[in-house]
Amino acid sequence: MKVNANQLREWDRMHCWHPFTQHAEWAAAGEELVLVGGQGPWLIDAEGRRYFDGNSSIWTNIHGHRHPRIDEAVRAQLSEVAHTSFLGFTHPGAAELARRLAVFFPPGTLERVFFSDDGSTAVEVAMKMAIQYRQQTGESERCGFIAFENAYHGDTMGAASLGGVSQFFDRFRSFGLPARHVRSLAELRAMPKDQIANVAAVVIEPLIQGVNEMRPWPSGMLQELRAWCDGQDLHLILDEVMTGFGRTGTLFACQQEGVIPDFLCLAKGLTGGYLPLAATLTTGAIFEAFLGTRERTFYYGHSYTANQLGCAAALASLDVFEEERVLEGLSPRVEALSQALGAIDHPFVHEVRQCGLISGLELRQENGERFLEGERMGERVCLAARAHGLLTRPIRDTIVMMPPLCSTTEEITGACEALGRAVEEV
Ligand code: PMP
Repeated sequence: MKVNANQLREWDRMHCWHPFTQHAEWAAAGEELVLVGGQGPWLIDAEGRRYFDGNSSIWTNIHGHRHPRIDEAVRAQLSEVAHTSFLGFTHPGAAELARRLAVFFPPGTLERVFFSDDGSTAVEVAMKMAIQYRQQTGESERCGFIAFENAYHGDTMGAASLGGVSQFFDRFRSFGLPARHVRSLAELRAMPKDQIANVAAVVIEPLIQGVNEMRPWPSGMLQELRAWCDGQDLHLILDEVMTGFGRTGTLFACQQEGVIPDFLCLAKGLTGGYLPLAATLTTGAIFEAFLGTRERTFYYGHSYTANQLGCAAALASLDVFEEERVLEGLSPRVEALSQALGAIDHPFVHEVRQCGLISGLELRQENGERFLEGERMGERVCLAARAHGLLTRPIRDTIVMMPPLCSTTEEITGACEALGRAVEEV
């Protein structure tokens, strides 16, 4: 029996609790789309309407929905087994995926892969490893972190301690791990020595901060940060949960500045956006500090660590990168996005920020001031865009445009035109 969409909406209203959602408004809105299908960069709702997936299903999708190569890999894995424990066992997908991730980096660098479930846990793992490493190398006082203002690294308690968006994190601040926030590299350099002495690692979203309304870092900053961390004997954690897997124009953002971190956090696009799977990569040197007696063990893990279906999807996604030469095809798409966003000519368009296929179009009043939060300008524009076949979400009044890498230049242009019409209407 197929349940009709209105019945589903009713059940949802009665029983679901959605992320980042004020339910007093959600229930009242009556605008809940029931998404039932997808094809390439398109999504289909229960009423049969098609929408361009303008934020890659919350920044996850890489090669499009229902990609035959990934579909087939997941089906083939299903005919073997869906999930087995990674605690005390291994399996072909995890071993091969770990190897394929490690060989993206020079020998002797990021050669160890710890699997978990999503972006937050990838960061959580890096944090715990960074602290325990210091405990096991005679520097247990180094147990804090430095993060950047307005950063976003996930919602689990540890990762949330690194978060710099006050609306999300302030109420939990006193329950988390010690973290200081700086605005810039200059502020970091100016930090007194005694404040750095108890820090284990610095964490950053390389090249561009996502939840901070898609704000790119100055070019060269990542390389300078790496050098500064080396000078202070601090580990560098790169959170490539959003930027990984081609989104910035290279497979990983850190490659653009020739930087190799001590911990690299990957999630969202790792499986092509199919299944929750994350990986924290680290160096052989860090791994070795965990060898020896039982007390040195990294006591951490989740039930679904290295899930077999997820690993199969991730391997197939890496195959697609190679077989379809995805990275080589990115620059016309990046150019199309830039052109099409630039063509949205409206006095409320304050700024367009872009890094590869990640972009944000910020709306402000004509005098350059932000709209009042209560006006919900960003949300209203995204709602209006639906009528023109575009799905995306705002961060405050910055409209995110992050198309799947498989989108054609025409599709990207069309999606931006839809956004332009929505801005006009609102
Ligand atoms: N880090 C970054 C940079 C992110 O953008 C996000 C999610 N938007 C996360 C971590 C958390 O990932 P997840 O939602 O998969 O836990």
